[in-house]
Amino acid sequence: MPDTRVIAPYITRWSTEATYLGQLTRRPSGRGIAYRDETLGDRDRHGVLWARANSAPEIGRPSFGKIHPARQRRAMRRLLCQVCAKPADQTPDGVLWLLLDHRGDWSGWPDGMGVTEPPICRPCIDVATRHCPALRRGYVVVRSRQYEISGIQGLQFHPGRTGITPGEQVLLDYTDPAVVWTLAHNLVRLLGDCTIVD
Ligand SMILES: [Zn+2]
Repeated sequence: MPDTRVIAPYITRWSTEATYLGQLTRRPSGRGIAYRDETLGDRDRHGVLWARANSAPEIGRPSFGKIHPARQRRAMRRLLCQVCAKPADQTPDGVLWLLLDHRGDWSGWPDGMGVTEPPICRPCIDVATRHCPALRRGYVVVRSRQYEISGIQGLQFHPGRTGITPGEQVLLDYTDPAVVWTLAHNLVRLLGDCTIVD
């Protein structure tokens, strides 16, 4: 029997996995957002609220381009490969990343860039570059010696006269006061001391 399973990265969301925004409200203190039925696991250790999503990977169809918040966060925190969820490749030269090629953005790129894509292992570079349409625009393989967790990416909300209104997607450092208004969807690491690999 041929293997007819669809190949989808570990962090990809599936059609059976939904995120829920309806349960959001303004914090009783007035400063920031909260879930109406919030539990301890809804915030990270910085006090930032995270997007909820049910877990049903490999059921239905993969929603390519959409990310599952809990799996992205797990892979990013533990430096797991974004495709296969095994440990990402790591050598004395640093951790391995597969990035869209934005070398024109600034000299020294990607030093100083906040990434939301978790790292990768070597075998999966092949898989990803063959199957991921987003990478057809050009990609680079990078090793970074610095990659500390710096913040989150997510949907920012604004206080309204009644409740809250959704705003724009933002990428924020944990030190930014606006994080209390943001529903985190991706954990961000800040790349530094990078080498571009051939
Ligand atoms: Zn892998």
